[in-house]
Amino acid sequence: MRSKSSKRNKPAGGGKSLSTRAIHAGEPRTKYADSLTTPIVQTSTFTFKNSKAIEDYTKKGKEHFEYGRYGNPTAKIAEARLADLEGAEDCVVFSSGMSAITTTILSLVQSGDHIVITDDSYKKTLEFCKSYLKQFGIECTIVPFGNYEVLEKAIKKNTRFIFSESPTNPYLNIFDLVRIKKIAEKHNVLTLIDSTFSTPFNQRPIEFGMDVVLHSLTKYLAGHNDILAGAVLGKEELVEKVRNLHKSMGGLIDPHCCYLLLRGLKTFPLRVERQNESGLKVARFLETHPRVQKVYYPFLESHRHYEIARRQMTGGGGVVTFEIKGNLSTAKRFLDALKLIYIGPSLGGVESLITHPAMVSYYDYTRKARYELGLTDTLFRLSVGIEDVEDLIADLDKALTRSKS
Ligand SMILES: *Cc1c(COP(=O)(O)O)cnc(C)c1O
Repeated sequence: MRSKSSKRNKPAGGGKSLSTRAIHAGEPRTKYADSLTTPIVQTSTFTFKNSKAIEDYTKKGKEHFEYGRYGNPTAKIAEARLADLEGAEDCVVFSSGMSAITTTILSLVQSGDHIVITDDSYKKTLEFCKSYLKQFGIECTIVPFGNYEVLEKAIKKNTRFIFSESPTNPYLNIFDLVRIKKIAEKHNVLTLIDSTFSTPFNQRPIEFGMDVVLHSLTKYLAGHNDILAGAVLGKEELVEKVRNLHKSMGGLIDPHCCYLLLRGLKTFPLRVERQNESGLKVARFLETHPRVQKVYYPFLESHRHYEIARRQMTGGGGVVTFEIKGNLSTAKRFLDALKLIYIGPSLGGVESLITHPAMVSYYDYTRKARYELGLTDTLFRLSVGIEDVEDLIADLDKALTRSKS
């Protein structure tokens, strides 16, 4: 597929608000067979009517699909809609967030280059940068999150980009986008931001001058805990580089999955608005609970990055991280007493999920190594879904009371 990306990002509704665009942007008003919803073009290949059609495509650059790995109409609509929502020139969708992240990184660096990444990035992203990039002669400096002096000093002549997340996992630290833009401009390096935890409802990094925005669509944007998908967004010239490598790496999202993504996107502003509200209510409830030691939520005045969060975000999102009083046994009793909230990784979906990083994502770390990362025995990350917030609070309250031996 030859991309005509700047054109295809014109929203169907034309300059409407985010919630309208989440439903209509990026697709023609009249669709196949006058279908209201987006057709799923379930095909691995596309045909040409005749030799002229081939030549119009290859020689004259006429829009035409060719082979599934190079593009699909259902995926193209998802890309156009996401680009519209994020305010980006272009977008490519992937089969997972990690596929988006690794393909993007590899398309922007060459052997001999250097990158800077903040230390509380997603575990698999850090692992990829630390271990695999080295194999290709790409050097990586991991800097402590929030220390902008150290970050700036880490930039060298061959540094290609700074990579960070905001908010981060699990402490929901906020990366100061205004500050990082100044540093990046001064040193002429690109800025890549994994914006999974914020979504374009709460934060639009491109408006702050970030070059590349990445999403695990698996979380809030698809929103129903039923698919894995990822996206990269940014200027056409950068995204085109990623798209080209994507065609070789092949981390394609299939058309049916794209349909589920598009369906999820329609309600994402509604869901995130509710999750912002419920997240804050749950955070405030936990903060006053006698069995709770500490709560981390960017829109709580007690959060270390509250000021930055209020400046660059619309809401705090649905993730609330907290530490309860007690020890590992207390933590297990608390988990076992939850009746409504499911125990499981992931976040951002309609079902509330709770995870215990020490027992799940970091089970293979020693206790000492975990504590160095701040992942204590009684730390939980709760992803608040869209259930009634009072039901969620009641579930948490009962389980907290029962956790006391
Ligand atoms: C989940 C997640 C990823 C990875 O995305 P997948 O869709 O699981 O591959 C990357 N970054 C962040 C911040 C995430 O939460």
